[in-house]
Amino acid sequence: MTRYLIVDALIFDADDTLWENNIYFKKAIEEFLELVAPFAADHREVHRVLGQVERELIPQRGYGSRNFLDSLHETFRRFYSSNDGQSYFRAIEQIGERLLQHPIELLPGVVSTLERLRPHHRLVLFTKGDREEQCGKLDRSGLRPFFERVEVAEEKDAAAYEQLIGRHGIRRECSAMVGNSPRSDVLPALAAGLWAVFIPHPHTWDMEEEEVEPHERLLVTQSFSDLPAVLSRLQTGSGFQS
Ligand SMILES: [Mg+2]
Repeated sequence: MTRYLIVDALIFDADDTLWENNIYFKKAIEEFLELVAPFAADHREVHRVLGQVERELIPQRGYGSRNFLDSLHETFRRFYSSNDGQSYFRAIEQIGERLLQHPIELLPGVVSTLERLRPHHRLVLFTKGDREEQCGKLDRSGLRPFFERVEVAEEKDAAAYEQLIGRHGIRRECSAMVGNSPRSDVLPALAAGLWAVFIPHPHTWDMEEEEVEPHERLLVTQSFSDLPAVLSRLQTGSGFQS
């Protein structure tokens, strides 16, 4: 039986892999829906327009809370035609302040699992979004000392993974990406020749969702704490999830 050894790097996503993230955006959207309800009562329609505005703005301004807030402002403008909206703009800014200052809530077992993995792997953090915002979250999380490298990319596509692999001399056949996002973690990592460990999160952002087909280098687990067991099963040749 072929044995596979993931002995080099473990590359971790951050948002909704190491800590809660999208639940705070969902909460902000709920607050926004409540705010605009007097003149835009159809929540589905507001959701649809917000998604459209975000898709329009992301290519120009990237990911992150600031862009999300700009999207809320723009969505508001598309539903509110009067020019006396100052109190609404202030309320949107307050939604933003709550979003930017949320506490970092680590997902269960993250610290103990990273402690177990650190002696055996190079631990790399690879996240996308606004650099200052992502680094701020990492500092608040207390997890920075675990990571040998920290990289914030504008987009995590296959080309970005290729660059990461090249920059750090990562041996792709014995390294794995660990994350909750099909679009930014699993699929581009597999395309770049890495292994992928998919840990689905129930509140993953809609824009990160994509169909994940079985693959010989794909592992799926429901819990971050299972990671050492998943990797060790793989190393005895019985870890396939395809
Ligand atoms: Mg994520």
